[in-house]
Amino acid sequence: MLQIRDVSKSYRKTVAVNHVNLHLAPGSLTVLLGPNGAGKSTLLKSVVGFLRYQGEIFIGGLPNKGVDAKRLVGFVPEMPSLYPNLTVIEHMELIARAYKLTNYQEDCRQLLTLFELDDKQKKFGDELSKGMQQKLSICLGLLPKPRLLLLDEPMVGLDPHAIKSLKELLLQKRNEGCAILISTHIIDSIEQLWDRCVIMQTGQVRADVTRETLWQSGQTLEQLFFAITEGSPEGGPSNGPQNGQFFNHMPPDMGGYMGGPPQGGPPNGPQNGQFFNHMPPDMGGYMGGPPQGGPPNGPQGERPTGSEAPPAGGEGQA
Ligand code: ADP
Repeated sequence: MLQIRDVSKSYRKTVAVNHVNLHLAPGSLTVLLGPNGAGKSTLLKSVVGFLRYQGEIFIGGLPNKGVDAKRLVGFVPEMPSLYPNLTVIEHMELIARAYKLTNYQEDCRQLLTLFELDDKQKKFGDELSKGMQQKLSICLGLLPKPRLLLLDEPMVGLDPHAIKSLKELLLQKRNEGCAILISTHIIDSIEQLWDRCVIMQTGQVRADVTRETLWQSGQTLEQLFFAITEGSPEGGPSNGPQNGQFFNHMPPDMGGYMGGPPQGGPPNGPQNGQFFNHMPPDMGGYMGGPPQGGPPNGPQGERPTGSEAPPAGGEGQA
């Protein structure tokens, strides 16, 4: 469902994603685990077409930046990015129109009920608490019934009830055939959820394990994570190729590849990607800034490239 082939992304001299390969099958739930700054968000934003990068990304066999590929994807960004002057229900209707959804009303009602927003339908984006914004952001990502669902730190800001609802919903979507990729740096938040875990550090994939293979190795996910990010208890190098033993979920054509040397690209400007980035396919993934008072990291900087509009903020071609 998702093929990431040798993708690298640099912001000026910072190599955020370094020769990453990743394939996701339909009906799978993969957690992208890594410390802050590992490159998780950059990788997800590359997949949804918000950033320029080197390498290739295919969604359902289609190049990721095309409209047909974007129709298959739902994205829940790390920071909810809503229109302050649109209500909850207007946000949902906007997504429905952008994705040309028909008969979406029942799905919309169910999602808003599940995330306890049904009685907040007339509230404006800027009247919602942080947690409510996050819940709405999740509803927006799920409304189009995507076949590939990407969630960037989705549990942050949610109350326990919403976390439980989200986990149940994600498992249901996986069982219905959706390929799901969840990025997080909080191991506990995904402990019972994952089928497969990909650990990233300094832009590279350091381990790729299934629940079963990790169990067979006798390690917990936490032990593996710390062995990679802090150094193994046996005293081996912390993040070297010895972790290749954990590449037991790699498609054969990748042969456990762990990345090449960092590549310096031309200077890249600060990316945005945070502003209403639910990327309706027909709008090239970018819907512009708010009429007034958008978030401080608004439309300046790197813009989604679906429309191939020249970047406003100095993003160079990576
Ligand atoms: P994660 O999501 O794993 O926390 P990110 O993808 O956000 O990691 O960041 C990876 C690296 O890229 C970090 O070193 C971060 O500082 C850098 N980075 C991310 N966004 C930008 C940006 N807009 N401009 C410059 N550097 C960035």
